[in-house]
Amino acid sequence: MELSDVKHTIKLSSDESFGCAFCSQSLGTSIDWDINHLIQIHGGKLLHVGSESLSSAGEAPYLATVALIGFSEVPPPKAATARFTTQLPPAS
Ligand SMILES: [Zn+2]
Repeated sequence: MELSDVKHTIKLSSDESFGCAFCSQSLGTSIDWDINHLIQIHGGKLLHVGSESLSSAGEAPYLATVALIGFSEVPPPKAATARFTTQLPPAS
């Protein structure tokens, strides 16, 4: 895949957990495993690996490892996970 073919990117971070945009896999436990998942299962291309500085109130800044994975396809919209029911309360 050429860089000009990239239509969508996903940022992985050693500091964040989220669901894979293409399947139901959870990402964020191990960034190397996450990179392998996106490359091998979904045909992603590793565009960049680096670090970002993070901080929260009252704590010293710390670094997280980030990776940017590019895809030639935009992932399909996720199906809603919550189910809406029109169930009525039992008649009394
Ligand atoms: Zn996936």
